[in-house]
Amino acid sequence: MSQARRIGLFGGAFDPPHQAHVALARAGLAQLQLDELRIIPTGQAWHKSRSLSPAADRLAMVKLAFADLAGVLIDERELNRRGDSYTIDTVLALRAEQAQAEFFLLMGADQWAAFTGWHRWQELAALVHLCVARRPDLADAPEAGTLEVTWLDLPPMPVSATGIRGQVAAAPAGGSWADLVPPAVARYISDHRLYAQP
Ligand code: ATP
Repeated sequence: MSQARRIGLFGGAFDPPHQAHVALARAGLAQLQLDELRIIPTGQAWHKSRSLSPAADRLAMVKLAFADLAGVLIDERELNRRGDSYTIDTVLALRAEQAQAEFFLLMGADQWAAFTGWHRWQELAALVHLCVARRPDLADAPEAGTLEVTWLDLPPMPVSATGIRGQVAAAPAGGSWADLVPPAVARYISDHRLYAQP
């Protein structure tokens, strides 16, 4: 019998996608021996109060950021969904499409710390393997109850999209922020004058 296909899921606002996102994806693909990793840019996420950059810009940057990673596939379904968008809906849809697959949900420690606040989190936890990357300020985040989690083998990286947006606003023409994102993403940010306002 053939082995179940191992599918990783990595969602985020990706506003913008940065080096830690790419490192996390690379680590997940290798460590979890994924057959495919779906990058899933969120619509207007229910748990983020800030309004996001246009979907078209975030999608374009995600395509540029992950272009070199074999096995990555960009899944646009959440961008196309109207109304509230929840990870459980995405996972249920994917399971309906690929009933035999095993799913691995990748996230950073900030999301993990908030996981028990996610919509239908118990149901979600029963459907996926939870795989978490440490973040510097959250290295000791409490684990959500008795849920099993796989820690990704990745040193904590002090990079956040919030920090990058702030740095771009302070120096739109270019600055040390350009090293925190893949080069093509840095060019896209400059060319499209993203994040000029803090
Ligand atoms: P923001 O600062 O706007 O909240 P972010 O940098 O956390 O953004 P998101 O697009 O919200 O980026 O994150 C997508 C996923 O990547 C989330 O699971 C998040 O925890 C994870 N992630 C982001 N940055 C890091 C990092 N430095 N280390 C590990 N995981 C990260």
